[in-house]
Amino acid sequence: MPKNDNFFSKTDMEPVLPPRKLAPGRLVIASHNAGKVREINALVAPYGIEAISADTLGLPVPVEDEKTFLGNAAIKARAAATASGLPALADDSGMEVAALDGRPGVHTADWAETPDGRDFYVAMERVWRELEESGSTDHSARFVCCLCLAWPDGHIESFLGKVEGSIKYPPRGKMGFGFDPVFVPAGYLKTFAELDPDTKHAISHRADAFAKLTKACLED
Ligand code: IMP
Repeated sequence: MPKNDNFFSKTDMEPVLPPRKLAPGRLVIASHNAGKVREINALVAPYGIEAISADTLGLPVPVEDEKTFLGNAAIKARAAATASGLPALADDSGMEVAALDGRPGVHTADWAETPDGRDFYVAMERVWRELEESGSTDHSARFVCCLCLAWPDGHIESFLGKVEGSIKYPPRGKMGFGFDPVFVPAGYLKTFAELDPDTKHAISHRADAFAKLTKACLED
């Protein structure tokens, strides 16, 4: 049988390199959210890494104009690594609703914009209205989190985390933030805003992405 040279795509033929490890030292968190920086610091400290915020270094905030979570996380991580000369970590997250073809997706935060600032109750009402208008009985949804590590030489490693669930309306619960009051994770009866924070943090899209990053770039 003649050998088919086209059988392997170029991608199939590329060597799969092991992920790059993050060396002990400073890591810039490309976020202006102090809570996020504290949370990440607790995760990386055991590996000899000190998380410092982009704010502390006075780094500019780049425009996030990509169409994917990875694209936007990479913009933020690369900008911070280039400006600081240090490795940098960025995240981008949002909610995808199956019957809405994955919307709001990368526009999740935008759906909450009102003339008076962000209001996630407006955004949750819009998700529900569009679901009803779609006529679909499929209310499944997921939260997605993309973490991107960038080095000053341009190398990046990225990790996608998710948690599957469904939309339940009206909103229930007072904990959490964003779309938590309408999201019920698969296997649970309560929304993310009703579950205790430890339970949410153990199963969240962010936890999933962080577990993958830890395994690939921090553990030996
Ligand atoms: P960002 O990537 O931190 O800007 O998050 C984008 C948007 O996704 C947030 O403004 C929230 O509305 C939504 N989001 C991300 N993660 C969560 C979550 O864990 N619960 C609820 N909403 C979330």
